Amino acid sequence: MHRDLLDALRCPMDHEESWLVAMVHRASGAQLLDVDLACPVCQREFAVREGVADFRLGAPYDSRATAATAPDPLRLAALLGLSPDAGPMSRPVLLAGAHAAASGALQMLVEFPQVLANPEVTSADDVRVPLSVLRVGNRLPLGVATLHAAALDAAHGQPEFVTSVVRAVRAGGRLLAPPSLQVPDGVREIARDEHEWVGEVVAQGHGLVELRRQSAPSYN
Ligand SMILES: [Zn+2]
Repeated sequence: MHRDLLDALRCPMDHEESWLVAMVHRASGAQLLDVDLACPVCQREFAVREGVADFRLGAPYDSRATAATAPDPLRLAALLGLSPDAGPMSRPVLLAGAHAAASGALQMLVEFPQVLANPEVTSADDVRVPLSVLRVGNRLPLGVATLHAAALDAAHGQPEFVTSVVRAVRAGGRLLAPPSLQVPDGVREIARDEHEWVGEVVAQGHGLVELRRQSAPSYN
């Protein structure tokens, strides 16, 4: 997990949005390899081990629904509105499930940081952009408007998960999903074909409770 993603992490449990307290045990450059994470609200603990952050809570995603073919990176960049002019300081793009297979090719096209959720393969070879790998359950553990755009596959279409992704995408950011997913509240459909639809996030959820933000200890 890239160090820059720490600030965007939120507890995925069912309570007001809260930052996570992080204790970094091992890092390699900007990549955090071994980290303990704790929620100051519910005291639940999560961990980064060998660079992969694990937020699964029971219900694993349905890998059987994952598409067999890797997505076309050019098409993905266009649909998600990933301009080649944007730099590595941009908000990251979320590639969930099967879309994570395009990670390497997408890095060759655009410098957006990437967050891979439940990728089938977690090869970290030749990484050109800030890259984070998350194992996630029912909710994406990221704060409001922390993502530039997001691509979901059919395995990540549970309504609760989709809602958490919509919250995490900035207003005006793109959401790409297969036709089996309903266009969720807060998203305006832009285009659709037999394989997928793309929409724009038009509404933002509620953000971090300021009281909690102040009560959470510093990461540093
Ligand atoms: Zn919590």
